[in-house]
Amino acid sequence: MLTPRRCGRINSVDIKVAPIVIILLLAMVLMAAKSTIPIIILLFSLLLHEIGHSLMAQALGLRVKEIVITPLGGMASIEGLSNRPIDEAKVAACGPLINLVIAGICALIDSDLAYLVMLINLGLGLGNLFPVFPLDGGRIIRGFFSAATNPVDAINSVGKISNYLCLVLLLFGYRFDFLIFALAISVYCVVVQKKELFMQVLANGRSPSLSLSQTISKTFRYFRDGDRYHTPPPPDPHRKEPNETSGSLEDFGGTLEEYFENKK
Ligand SMILES: [Zn+2]
Repeated sequence: MLTPRRCGRINSVDIKVAPIVIILLLAMVLMAAKSTIPIIILLFSLLLHEIGHSLMAQALGLRVKEIVITPLGGMASIEGLSNRPIDEAKVAACGPLINLVIAGICALIDSDLAYLVMLINLGLGLGNLFPVFPLDGGRIIRGFFSAATNPVDAINSVGKISNYLCLVLLLFGYRFDFLIFALAISVYCVVVQKKELFMQVLANGRSPSLSLSQTISKTFRYFRDGDRYHTPPPPDPHRKEPNETSGSLEDFGGTLEEYFENKK
């Protein structure tokens, strides 16, 4: 009942839905439950959100295996995204972007249904941009961190941001009486983030070595300086090679380390 079944195909991507979603939906329609229309709008908005991720991934030349809708949400399976950090950020941004565009269009229409569609899409768009891994906001930040540092420190640093925000969520949950919900979300985020960190440590054969502030400052410098930061400067034509020196420090054109290395 939980194994997703193929329900259609959009732009060469299989759309799969867990049977439990359809059964629950049919039951709601038969009982004429009040929340039927909001749930249908939510499911379609989720599907469009995932289609947003898929279209961007396809535009970047990546293969999208399938889109799966379950009672816990939607997911687009995209191959080869893990080693393309900036593309991960672009793909992650496109899901919430679709929801925000829909919300924007509905805001211009004067009807109760359009208002409902706007509220649901606004919630989905802004909620997913919350900078917590594995939400899209966390994935966007992970992409930026990973481009400037490495996949291990990127996920480790995003995990630290997620932990702080989950702590804030728990405090709000305690204060405003939604502690169980806040606890479930926090545990889910921590488990997924730790699993991802473990996989990246195994894949890259290294442990995290940067603090959160070091990762942020490296990312800031990377995007401020662009390629200059990572491209070595052109060789100085007047610079003497270590083996050409006369032996005196004043005449030597290299670094101090090279001078003493040459003296050995
Ligand atoms: Zn998403």
